Parts: sequence; C-alpha cells; structure tokens
Amino acid sequence: RAIAGAVADLPPRQAPELPVECRLSGLEPLHIGETSLFVNVGERANVTGSAVFKRLIMNGDYSTALDVCREQVENGAQAIDINMDEAMLDGKKAMVTFLNLIASEPDIARVPVMLDSSKWEIIEAGLKCVQGKGIVNSISLKEGKDAFVRHARLLRMYGAAVVVMAFDEKGQADTLARKTEICERSYRILVDEVGFAASDIIFDPNIFAVATGIEEHNNYAVDFIEATGWIKDKLPHALVSGGVSNVSFSFRGNNPVREAIHSVFLYHAIARGMDMGIVNAGQLAVYDELPAELKERVEDVVLNRRADATERLLEIADDYRGEGVQAKREDTEWRSWPVAKRLEHALVKGIDAFVAEDVEEARQQFARPIEVIEGPLMDGMNVVGDLFGAGKMFLPQVVKSARVMKKAVAVLLPFIEAEKSGGASSNGKVLMATVKGDVHDIGKNIVGVVLACNNFEVIDLGVMVPAATILEEAKRHEVDIIGLSGLITPSLDEMVHIAKEMKRLGFTIPIMLGGATTSKAHTAVKIEPEYDEPVVWVKDASRAVGVAQNLVSETNRAKFVSDLKDEYTKVRELHEGRGRAKEFLSIAAARANHSQIDIAAVPPAPKRLGVQVFEDVPLAEIRPYIDWSPFFGAWELNGAYPRILDDPHKGEEARKLYADAQKWLDTIIAEKWLEARAVVGLFPAHATADDSVVVEDPASGREIARFHFLRQQQDKKDSRANLCMADFVAPEHDHIGGFAVAVFGADQKAAEFEKQHDDYTAIMIKVLADRLAEALAEYMHEKVRKDLWGYAPDEKLTNEELIRERYQGIRPASGYPATPDHTEKETLWQLLDVRNRIGMGLTESYAMTPPAAVSGLYLAHPAAHYFTVGHIDRDQVEDYARRKGMSVEEAEKWLAPLLG
Ligand code: SAH
Repeated sequence: RAIAGAVADLPPRQAPELPVECRLSGLEPLHIGETSLFVNVGERANVTGSAVFKRLIMNGDYSTALDVCREQVENGAQAIDINMDEAMLDGKKAMVTFLNLIASEPDIARVPVMLDSSKWEIIEAGLKCVQGKGIVNSISLKEGKDAFVRHARLLRMYGAAVVVMAFDEKGQADTLARKTEICERSYRILVDEVGFAASDIIFDPNIFAVATGIEEHNNYAVDFIEATGWIKDKLPHALVSGGVSNVSFSFRGNNPVREAIHSVFLYHAIARGMDMGIVNAGQLAVYDELPAELKERVEDVVLNRRADATERLLEIADDYRGEGVQAKREDTEWRSWPVAKRLEHALVKGIDAFVAEDVEEARQQFARPIEVIEGPLMDGMNVVGDLFGAGKMFLPQVVKSARVMKKAVAVLLPFIEAEKSGGASSNGKVLMATVKGDVHDIGKNIVGVVLACNNFEVIDLGVMVPAATILEEAKRHEVDIIGLSGLITPSLDEMVHIAKEMKRLGFTIPIMLGGATTSKAHTAVKIEPEYDEPVVWVKDASRAVGVAQNLVSETNRAKFVSDLKDEYTKVRELHEGRGRAKEFLSIAAARANHSQIDIAAVPPAPKRLGVQVFEDVPLAEIRPYIDWSPFFGAWELNGAYPRILDDPHKGEEARKLYADAQKWLDTIIAEKWLEARAVVGLFPAHATADDSVVVEDPASGREIARFHFLRQQQDKKDSRANLCMADFVAPEHDHIGGFAVAVFGADQKAAEFEKQHDDYTAIMIKVLADRLAEALAEYMHEKVRKDLWGYAPDEKLTNEELIRERYQGIRPASGYPATPDHTEKETLWQLLDVRNRIGMGLTESYAMTPPAAVSGLYLAHPAAHYFTVGHIDRDQVEDYARRKGMSVEEAEKWLAPLLG
C-alpha cells in the first residue's frame, strides 16, 4: 500500500517497443533482424550428411562427436544443426543423449540448436532437452494440414522457431510458382490460424542440385533465389534458409569448385534476402577472391545464363581440383588488378612477395604515405580481421597476413618519418608481457600479432618482466589494456601479485591474461577479486581480439564487464561448492594406503651409473621422434596428427602449415641453426617411509640428493591406493634417473626474423624448437631404456607407440600432475650439475632456459605410471615443508595450486 501511494502520481511504465526480430538463444542470444548479417548454421553434426559424424555416433564416441560441434562454433557457426536420422540408430535416444552432453559444454551451448529430423518424435524429444530457444527443422504440409497445425501448436508451446519446408500433399516444390504457393499457404495457416509469430517462421524453399546434366534442373538455383526474394517481399518478417551444399552435389569430390558454387549461390541469394543457411562454415570461398574464369562459369551455371553452362564449367573444373593449379591461375590473374585491390589480396592471402613494389606504387598515388596505411592496408587488414572473426581464416593465415602488413609498414615508415606526420590512428594500445620468472612467449607473440592485425598498437615487453616494469611502461605509454602471459604455475602467483600492485597503486587499466596453466577458475577465484577493474581470462588467441575490442569499446564495455563480473561470480560460487565436497585422509592414513610394487619386478641395475652429457645431438636423428599433434595445437589448429591433414575443414591449412614446418626443419638441420643438448644421470636409490627418494653416490653409497614427493590425500572411499611417485621406488636396492634436455638457439634465430618483420617464421622456429626438445626427451628416454640403463634392450616401438608412451617406465616432470612442485628442479639441477654441464638455467619461478626444454626423473618399474596428486591437506603441507627444510609459508606458496 505504501508503495502504491508512493508511485500513485507517476505515469505507468511505457512498454518499450521492440523491433520484430527472430530472437533465438543458446546460452547467448542470437537475434536475426533487418540489419543482421547472414547466419551460418553448422551442418556437420548430421549422421546422414557426414560420414565422420555418423561413425562417431554409431560407435558411441559422443565426446569426439562433441568436438565436431565445438569446431563448427569455433569456426563461426552461429547455430548448429543436429540430425540423428539413421535407420540403424535409435535416433530419439541419440538426440537426447547428445543434446544433454551439449548442455554441459558452454563452448557449444553458447549457440542455438537446430533440431533436424523428419521424425516428429525425435524433434519433440529434442525440444524437451534444449535450453534457450532453438529452431526446429522442419515441419511442412507434406502430411496434410492437420498434422502441420498440430505440430505448429506444440512448437509454440515449447517455444521454438521453425523451418517450414516448401512441401505439401502433392510433393516437394521445385518451381518458383510451387514454392511461392506452398510458402504462402503455410504462412497464412501459421500466422492466421495458429497464431505463430511470423518472425519465428523460416522458410526453406528447397535448394536442389544444379549442373546435373538434366535440363529441368538448370533453373533450380534461380528458382530458389527468386522464391527467396518473393518471400521477403510478400510474407512480412518471415525468414529464408536452405541447405546450401545440395546445390553443388554434382561436383562431389571437387571441393574447390563446390566451394565456388556455394559462394556464388550465396552471394546472389543473400542479395535477395536469404537470412541463414546450413553450411560448412569454414569452407566457404570468398566471392570476391574467386578466380575470374571460374567465377564466370560458375555464375553461368547458378544463374542459368547459358545453355552450355554445365559443359563449360565441367571443361575447367578439373583445373581447380588441386589447389596448386588454382593457385597458379590466380597468380597471373591478381597481378593485373588495381594496386589497392592487389594489396588487399596480398594481405588476405598472406603473400609477401610483391608487397614492397605494390606499396611503393600505392605511395605514389596517395598524397601522403600515411594514407596508404589508413587506406588500402587498413582495409585489407579489416577483411582479414572479419574473416578470422567469422571463422573463415585460421590462425597461421592471420599470422602470415600480419607479416605482409609489417613489411608494408616498414617500406612506408621512412617516408612517414620524413614527413613527421605521426602514426596512424589505432583501436587502442595493448601492453603485452610474459611475467617475471617465466620465459614462454609463443602464445603471447601470437596474441600480439593477432591484435596488431586488428589495428591495436601492441607494446611488447618480452619475457621475465617484473611487475614494476610492466606498470611503469603501462603508465608511460598510456595503454588501454595490459596483457599478461605465463606458462608455468608459479606465474599464476605472479599475476595475482601484479593485480594487487595495480590496485594498491590506483591503476584503472583492465587486464587480459592467458597461457597454459591460467584458467577461468583461477582468474575468477584468485586474481579478479584482487583488482577492481576488469580482469579477463582469454582462452586462446582467436578470442583475444573480441575481448580487447569490448574492453576499449565505449558502447559495449559496460555490458561486457558486468556480464563478466556475473560470470566470474558464478565460477567462484561453483568453486566454493566444490571445495566443501572434498574429504581428506590424514597424511599418515594416506601413506598407510600406499600402492605396493612387486619387488621381484624391480629392474636390474643400470649398465652405466653416473652422469653423462650429450652435446650436439644430431637434429636429424631427433626429427623422427617429433610428436606433431601439439605442433598444430600451438597454431590453434586442434586435432590429432596425421588425421588433421585430411580434415575436411582445417585439412588444407594444416597441410600448408605442415609443409612449411618441414621446409624450415630442413633448413634448421642443414644450417645447424639449433643445437640439442642433454644430460642424463642414473643412480642407486631407495624410497623412504615419508615419501622421499634418497639418491646415492654410485661409488660410496652416500646420500647425494633427496627428491620429495607428494601423495594423493583425498579419501577415495574404495580399494584404490593413495598414490605417490615414491611408491614406485623400492625401499632398498633400487635406482632412479634424472634428465634435462634443451634445444638452444631458437630465440636468437627468431629475433632475426622478427627484425625482418616476419613474425610467422619467428613463431614457427620457436614452435619447432619446442617440438625438437620434446622429441629429444623421447629420444633420450629410449636410449636410457635400451642402452644406458638397459632394462628394455629389445624394445621395438613405432613413433606412434612412443608418443603414446607404450614402454616400461615413466619420466615424470616437475610441474605436472603427479609431481606438481616446480622447486624440485633445483635438486635435479644440483644432482646433474645441469647449468655447468650443458648451460640450461632456472629462473626464480623455476622456468627452464632456454624455453625449449624438458626435464624430469626416470622411474623404471613396470608398475610406475602417471596420476594426479590433486588437492592436499594442511598436514601434508607441513610435513612437506619439514622434509624440504622450508617454512610452511614458502611451501604454501609453491603448492598454492594444490591447496583448494
Ligand atoms: N609427446 C608430447 C609429450 C609431452 S607430454 C610432446 O611432444 O609434447 C608427456 C610428458 O609429460 C611425460 O613424458 C611426462 O614427462 C609428463 N607427464 C605427463 N603426465 C604427467 C603426470 N601426471 N605427472 C608427471 N609428469 C607427467
């Protein structure tokens, strides 16, 4: 009553008038209105359309099947079509299982789902699982009006948009007249009788294959395009969609031509109002980039412009089958274009061969050199940024584009300086640094390149940068964002420290952070609460641009930041809930529940005890041991080698990248750019009752070192042991090994390329050095098993089996889940005298230098295996501190990630 009184004089709230739009959502909204761009619906999660997806579902491999969806979303799909219509499959069950799995994958569930089935029961089962508002694909008048109306009513109730096929009792519409007639009838029934929102109706006026050799099919694409125009004119607010791949069906096996057909078809259909399409989002050729001859002939086919169009396309189709030929044809072609267009093309394609001459020509056409940057170069980079943002370009391509840009700017710089005109205007300034104690910079460099491509000015302070330097430079350059990077766990602590410092000193600059051990949870729980301004965790380089743009945007920033705060609050709540659920055993009880190794199976004594140094290990010998999957991961092309090379979507880019890598490896090896060094030690050893391993001098038997291990402490409530690495070493008469390996010279070589504005090659060399270091670790481990220790002299494993570590014994590395404490590296360094023997160092956070490095212990018992220590309780921290002779505070600092 009091409230009623208080507001009695006030006019009622004016209900806002929302524009009529198709409003869909997954976890995030997707509105499709007048001004929206074309919406890509990912087509690959379809058991009838994709053999790969079908196999995964039939084998019950749902987790890999989820990757198919994730990849599509990452590549720009704004909704995903899911189809489980397969005779041998319980489609309803498969649909429900899959949708429930998607619901727990925020990367995928972000976008709305399109439930695709010809069986109503599958659709209805799916509707009961999807969150947000999805799309049903499809209903139609095929089975008559009654069924149509019944389904539409249910859809209204469930809350979904619907694809309506141009299909009626007489069959599927193929001509313009039939298409428009059925769509109009469907629309009137839905809108007038069912009360369906017109903006939730998406017509699919049937895309059929053209160029089939059958004359009646020649006008199919035109019919679709014209029907689209008619629907957009005559049926207010209704949308138009279609399954695009159908149109090129007769060119199966020739992807370049199929992509060309799709892009021409879409170009014209979108011009007439097509709103969305089911497509392979990553596989669309760029209309403007099609070679002129191919474009003309495809256009003849799609637009049905001449009777011999099909034959004329067939005539040249084979020339475009392989990319090699296509590339050659393009080569001669684009050089004749106007210079601005040439620059754009060079940027999009990452071709740096002509950039100097083209830039010089452009410079003479413009009044001032800066205008070349602000004009054609920026235009080109905007195209690159858009294509990358839409998932139509991959990271390696973007990095190559950046190389072209940098080289172009380098040509112009002397002229700009001569003119003293100041720099081009940028989106904003970002300071980037790898934090103190850490030396890893591949990820940071990639992010820097991608940001620069999107017109951010990047100030890169390099690696091992102390907090004070970061803050001073941030002030001096008046940056808009500080980007922090780090790979090892101690860097997490350093980031917390920087956040605290920024708060103490009254900074207001937002922080972006990323790197291998960073996570959303850690950021939300440990870093964000320390600073009042935005702290954003960036999962990978492809997301950095979006985050940076939001942070500098006057219009988006407030919402972005408040959404982020909400999200991190939720993450924190979830995290607190998790912590409580855990129950620990006392460390004594956990030790009593240790795992027992078979003493009879303890391997024989090593053939060669003591320390051995291997300098200048031939790179050619190491090369076959390379594990290539992480190589693609470093370039954000995720997938297992060699399968990734045949991936329908990323395969082409993966093959190019792989070929580049081989070329650079050849050069690195032939010209000895890098040097591989290793030190290995094998010693008598025994485990103690308190989870340490004593290393003995081979001659005197005296203790020369002691490794300290941590034990799983969570109450497992079943018969499984509480594991600790010390369990795999016998209490007496056993042995242990240690190793440190590294590849030297990559930073220096990379710097030479950076100087020539070639970030692509600089990053490539660092990535390859990492690969060689891991391969060297594999190579040395094999040598130890077969020869130096010699407990497996007859082992014969393929490279693939080596990568899967199918051998006896393990090489646990500090900082990994079974041996998470990085400080143990100090003991290893002393034991093997690593620094003096081969020049590898440790930073104050125990990062190894050079960065391409691996170190660890060798355990040879057949029962030895990796595991995760997980969270530990306070009594073990105290015990560990005592064993290591550290204060409890110091132990807590290093073990922070384990302390829940
Ligand atoms: N072939 C990969 C290998 C590196 S990852 C590459 O080229 O990148 C595998 C290594 O990580 C193991 O050999 C071991 O040194 C370490 N590792 C993996 N899991 C571990 C765990 N739970 N505890 C300790 N070390 C582990």
